[in-house]
Amino acid sequence: MMSMRVALAAALTGLLSSSLAFAQTPGIEKLYILNCGEGVAGDISRWSPGVNVGKSMDFVDNCYLIKHAQGWFLWDTGLADAIAAMPEGQRPPDPRMTHWHRPHTLASELDQLGVKPADIKYIAVSHTHPDHIGNVELFPQTMLLVQKAEYEWPAPFGVRFKPEHPATKLEGDHDVFGDGSVTITSTPGHTPGHQSLLVKLPKTGAVLLSGDAVHFKDNWDNRRVPEGNFSKEQTIASMQRIADLLAQNKAQLWINHDKAQRDTLKMAPEFYE
Ligand SMILES: [Zn+2]
Repeated sequence: MMSMRVALAAALTGLLSSSLAFAQTPGIEKLYILNCGEGVAGDISRWSPGVNVGKSMDFVDNCYLIKHAQGWFLWDTGLADAIAAMPEGQRPPDPRMTHWHRPHTLASELDQLGVKPADIKYIAVSHTHPDHIGNVELFPQTMLLVQKAEYEWPAPFGVRFKPEHPATKLEGDHDVFGDGSVTITSTPGHTPGHQSLLVKLPKTGAVLLSGDAVHFKDNWDNRRVPEGNFSKEQTIASMQRIADLLAQNKAQLWINHDKAQRDTLKMAPEFYE
């Protein structure tokens, strides 16, 4: 009789803790990975100084679209849609960098999913390089979530947002929907206000979207810092922060530009739950 009570109590505790775990992540319905560009990096030692000198590598560029009970959220906007109309894509100023193509526009990918730009409640960008902010102005009314340090950075790429674009200038981490399901995490280093995204999916589990805190798996495994990064010290610290977040949340790391990894993932219109 006693052991039965213990078993019953254990079962109830299990039930309670699993329903509590569910209660922590009620809001996300879907996460889509959108193809926001494909390219060839001329010399990947630009991202891994002294390693693989002169070797080229295919890159991808992703955007991530989340359907939350409170509204749509877009993480990164990819390369400018105008590149889709360029027959030879966009050649980089330096041949060691990435020669980008855009097989489809972001506008057409959203359209295919039945999502209008005005339906998006928030957009957030990992940082302000052109392969991540190319289509911010496709969403002129949408609140942009960006680190203050990034917004105010006098970057080499000139004006990046229209001054009238609604923006929330963050100073550190930010719980987007207030339920812990989508959290912007501050990971400076690649740029002064770089950020990554921790997403807690109800079925898939936790996923951390890298932004450009790291560009491909080999650099993650070896903690290599690209030559053009804003701060080597901050980059190393942010990689450690990501490693800690992965461990705490039992999360997968999805590396934005890593083609080998992305080839293993489902692309829109398929989605993760
Ligand atoms: Zn990038």
